[in-house]
Amino acid sequence: VKLEPQSIPESVEEFATLLERYRTRRRRKKERQKRNPIPRRALSAKERELVLAKTGGRCHICGGSIEESWQADHVLAHSVGGVQSAENYLPAHTLCNNYRWDYSSKEFQEILKLGVWVRTQIIRRTPIVEAVAKRYLEYERARLKRRKSR
Ligand SMILES: [Zn+2]
Repeated sequence: VKLEPQSIPESVEEFATLLERYRTRRRRKKERQKRNPIPRRALSAKERELVLAKTGGRCHICGGSIEESWQADHVLAHSVGGVQSAENYLPAHTLCNNYRWDYSSKEFQEILKLGVWVRTQIIRRTPIVEAVAKRYLEYERARLKRRKSR
């Protein structure tokens, strides 16, 4: 994936528009894929073992050790010709893969940078992110509750 030289949005409005554009592109792509689905083949236990061994049992997204639920994440999407065999997969935590899988590189990098910046502001107890952090914790509590009740 070729990344364009970075330009920083001039305003919050421009930033919001940029993030919206990424999201719209991603959703349109997903809709197209839904209309023309590529038949998926499940990996065998042996193939999954091969995929997990590639990273020594670690998630390729966060680098954490994989102890339980994990998914074989495609390196090259099936929609752009990625093959459905062990060579095209890397292991990922289910959570990491669910957060990552359909973002473009650009959108993912923007989210990562934003997350790191917000994290720093939270550590610094910057007043402007207090409301964001509070809402985020409420959201996470609700998410965890939904997960437990499933
Ligand atoms: Zn992970």
